[in-house]
Amino acid sequence: MTAIFEKVALLGVGLIGSSMAHAMRRAAVASHIAGYSRRAETLERARRLGFADSLHGDAASCVRDADLVVLATPVGSYATLAGQIAPSLKRGAILSDVGSVKSAVIRDVGPYVPEGVHFIPAHPIAGTEQSGPEAGFAELFDGRWCVLTPPPGTDAAALERLKSFWRALGSEVEVMDARHHDLVLAITSHLPHLIAYNIVGTADDLQTVTQGEVIKYSAGGFRDFTRIAASDPTMWRDVFLNNREAVLEVLGRFSEDLSALQRAIRWGDGDALFNLFTRTRAIRRSIVDAGQDTAAPNFGRGKQKDQ
Ligand code: NAP
Repeated sequence: MTAIFEKVALLGVGLIGSSMAHAMRRAAVASHIAGYSRRAETLERARRLGFADSLHGDAASCVRDADLVVLATPVGSYATLAGQIAPSLKRGAILSDVGSVKSAVIRDVGPYVPEGVHFIPAHPIAGTEQSGPEAGFAELFDGRWCVLTPPPGTDAAALERLKSFWRALGSEVEVMDARHHDLVLAITSHLPHLIAYNIVGTADDLQTVTQGEVIKYSAGGFRDFTRIAASDPTMWRDVFLNNREAVLEVLGRFSEDLSALQRAIRWGDGDALFNLFTRTRAIRRSIVDAGQDTAAPNFGRGKQKDQ
């Protein structure tokens, strides 16, 4: 494939930034990959892994002459970074990101975007509970959606170029309004993470159940929550602080539905439980049919004798 961009600057070389670098190398979509990280130790780890052509401890020097600049740090750091890089952005460049929320990104970064720079926020819906440069791999985005949320009036050619870029990295691309994105992700990603953080915290707090028992009998369903609850604390703190409205809206609905379930259990309403569980099983099947997960039992793990 011929390069889509001469120079791509990745601000952040953790799970997402390093995976992008690996996927860019695989597809040969950039002639030069520049990486920025805040700490010298992370830069050294990235250097050893060798996925970038140049590495920088200074964001402004990383973005100089770049045709595509991608913010790939926790969302709460975007405004500071945007202020630092704004004077060094090349005219005609695309400024994008990978943040898990989108309205707050437009609010925080938008005011810094210089005239002549195309600002197109993006969110690859792909990830793992791992972080740091070692966690990245080229296949992360394969067959996963990347949602672009261009503000009104975005240059059509720049949008097409960014779409081609994400397709080259293996993604399928969807364009969406930022507010709608935040509502969809609040139910499909943010709420499940909140539930996982909460259930693991509750289990940890229970006085009558020992830590040893929680670990020993975790295969009964708890283990899948612990995987999600192991996700990066900084990233997820920033997600909840920056998608407050949508998360509170779906959390309200969730609490009502949970109360209905509580009542069904209290009054022995087996039909209500059975009907809900039948409906949810069909949803699982449609996710597998859509290729968004494997049908292998136990999430594709080895056969568990204790399940
Ligand atoms: P990560 O593996 O923890 O990497 C974070 C990177 O950001 C590191 O290079 C880190 O640098 C840098 N960083 C952290 N705090 C910073 C700050 N205050 N100022 C400047 N740089 C900072 O994180 P990640 O999972 O790749 O997530 C990055 C972004 O991708 C987030 O916005 C997240 O919402 C989004 N995202 C994540 C996932 C996921 O599943 N993880 C999926 C989709 C989108 P140092 O190590 O040098 O401090």
